[in-house]
Amino acid sequence: PTKELPGVKEALEKNDQAGAAEKIQEYLEKKDKIPLNIGITGESGAGKSTFINAFRGVDNRDEQAAPTGIVETTMEITQYPHPNYPNVLFWDLPGIGTTNFPADEYLKLVEFEKFDFFVIISDTRFRENDVKLAQEIQKMEKKFYFVRSKIDNDVNAEKRSQRDFSLEGSLGKIKENCIEGLETGGIKSPKVFLVSSFDLHLYDFPCLQKTLEKELPAHKRDALLFSMPNINMEIINKKKEAFQAQIKWYSVDKLC
Ligand code: GDP
Repeated sequence: PTKELPGVKEALEKNDQAGAAEKIQEYLEKKDKIPLNIGITGESGAGKSTFINAFRGVDNRDEQAAPTGIVETTMEITQYPHPNYPNVLFWDLPGIGTTNFPADEYLKLVEFEKFDFFVIISDTRFRENDVKLAQEIQKMEKKFYFVRSKIDNDVNAEKRSQRDFSLEGSLGKIKENCIEGLETGGIKSPKVFLVSSFDLHLYDFPCLQKTLEKELPAHKRDALLFSMPNINMEIINKKKEAFQAQIKWYSVDKLC
């Protein structure tokens, strides 16, 4: 394994254990500090804070939780670090409608450059502002994903109102409706994920997780993976593999 880290093999060949240990330590420290900035935007009440808390594995009632159910009045941007991986930051960005800025100015104001990707949340179909923002994000060559929130509410309502309720049918209809609206607005093949922040393991959150992992640059993938809530065995196994891949460095580090 010493081949994989530049300088380690050479140091060991020269019997320079201290030098090798230093290189390994540098690598481990750097790895822990890779920043991941996730911008969460959507109108007030869309479910941004609840989504951020669920993603961070923090209960809404927790001290570290993003405040939920409070109406925004200012252009306030708050960052919430992941409790175990403080290099992973979730940014609660005010809805573009709340700020009254055009999409390009809004993005400059929130310092879009620092974000690895954006999540645009809505608890209804996406509106003109969401489309404008997405188009501007695209122009700035950043990635964005649409999250249609509070799906548990929709499912419950459909269950109550439809005689021949089908979960798949209902979810399909909601997603189609969102995609159609976004396409009409001019977004090509929008990625829409149906999510309930109260039940992340249901609906499309696992799929969002996989998509993010696939689309993030390789050196950011572990940061995302480790910050993910343990919603299913697949994530737990992936974390295990990623940890195992690192163990050799920790153990070499200890030996030297
Ligand atoms: P924000 O203003 O965008 O940060 O929205 P909040 O996260 O404060 O959510 C607004 C309200 O919607 C709160 O009462 C939340 O409890 C509720 N909410 C948020 N996400 C969900 C969800 O996935 N399902 C349900 N049923 N309610 C949600």
